[in-house]
Amino acid sequence: MTAAAAPFDRQGTQGDAERVQAAMRSFVREFGVTAALHMEACVRCGMCAEACHFHVATGEAKYTPVHKLELFRRAYRREVGPFAPLVRALNLVPRPSIDDLQQWQELIYDSCNMCGRCTMICPMGIDIAELVKEARHGMFAAGLIPERLALMDRTARQWGSPATPAEDLPDILAEIVEQHGEPIPCDLPAADVLVTAAPAELGDHTHALAAAAKILNRAGVRWTMHQGGFDASNIGFNNGDLPLQEQLTRALIDTAVKIGAKTVLLPECGHAYGAARWEAAKWYPQGVPVRVMHMVEYLDELIASGKVRLKPIGETATFHDPCQIVRRGGLEAAARRVLAALGFELHELKDHGRFAYCCGGGGGVVSNVRAAPLRAKAFEIKKAQVEATGAKHFVTACGQCRITLEMGAKQAKWDRQVESLLELVAERLVDEGKP
Ligand code: SF4
Ligand code: SF4
Repeated sequence: MTAAAAPFDRQGTQGDAERVQAAMRSFVREFGVTAALHMEACVRCGMCAEACHFHVATGEAKYTPVHKLELFRRAYRREVGPFAPLVRALNLVPRPSIDDLQQWQELIYDSCNMCGRCTMICPMGIDIAELVKEARHGMFAAGLIPERLALMDRTARQWGSPATPAEDLPDILAEIVEQHGEPIPCDLPAADVLVTAAPAELGDHTHALAAAAKILNRAGVRWTMHQGGFDASNIGFNNGDLPLQEQLTRALIDTAVKIGAKTVLLPECGHAYGAARWEAAKWYPQGVPVRVMHMVEYLDELIASGKVRLKPIGETATFHDPCQIVRRGGLEAAARRVLAALGFELHELKDHGRFAYCCGGGGGVVSNVRAAPLRAKAFEIKKAQVEATGAKHFVTACGQCRITLEMGAKQAKWDRQVESLLELVAERLVDEGKP
């Protein structure tokens, strides 16, 4: 029996040969020294297979991390590997075809969150998540990405946000202020902190933005949101559209510089942190001119400085570590200090901290409806681990993780609420002067 063809989408009007050419050109560009070393270093030990939730949840060999990179490796051997001319002359490694690329789409978009768990497990230190990100650049150039992501890409190029035109921001914020009763400064000409939002926080999840406003206002921070740069979006990063990500990240950092802010505060969103904190160095070779902080590290600093005091909850909790802020962002201890300040008795998941499994939604998978059945299978791992803790609260610090976990819970008919660390902090603020 032959395996069923994987689903794929195409964008643009390029012919098949042009698409292959565009992908190969991009792959060759990406094969710098580091990528080449990674390509050469794999010893096919298979250890990464058990690290990937998509492989663990399905048992399917095609979802092993090393298999996801197979096409990239073929391109490397043919085009830039040490014996590339010979490999090409004798056709020792076949050139990737349009069918290969189309079938590859499912492997690097639908079944990879770029979560980096396999990267951490690999004994050779191969950064598989980074290589998948580089492979996505070629797929984007070839017009071969999931249509749901392509749609958001087109919107973001036009609006500077995948969901919100900049000119709508003042009205949206006014509505959030009316709804939650917490002032949100907009377009101030000068501030110390430029606050940004995840796309969902300006739509269905305004509670998180109101929570951030409450904390910042109580702490006496001079802050603003700004039409010039407000959307902490990672859509370019996820899709493989590097010019778009540069546009989105520069909007935040350049706006902060313009208003004299020393800090860009990112919301509870993991990939936005990766895109704005680490990728920004690409576009500011002299050094990123402002401090880019995730909400968790900002809360940790406010608590440590005594500007924010909390009423302890005193119950048990477990915590889902968002991959991009903990494994790839180093904020494991900061998140736990905030949990401790909330007075939680922490019951860790079996796999937690840097070893936590991804929620299954990162890297654009949550927005890719086609991937929903696979995501639901991966969710079972998290569900089982949460249940095993017996904890009363299930907390996380990434809005996208929360959305993914809530979707998983709904699908699995699992009656469990996923709580936001930020919102819990806002709820438990000590109002100075009040008992
Ligand atoms: S763990 Fe590393 S060396 Fe082993 S198969 Fe995976 S990528 Fe290759
Ligand atoms: S980065 Fe994460 S989702 Fe992608 S292959 Fe590795 S473990 Fe799997």
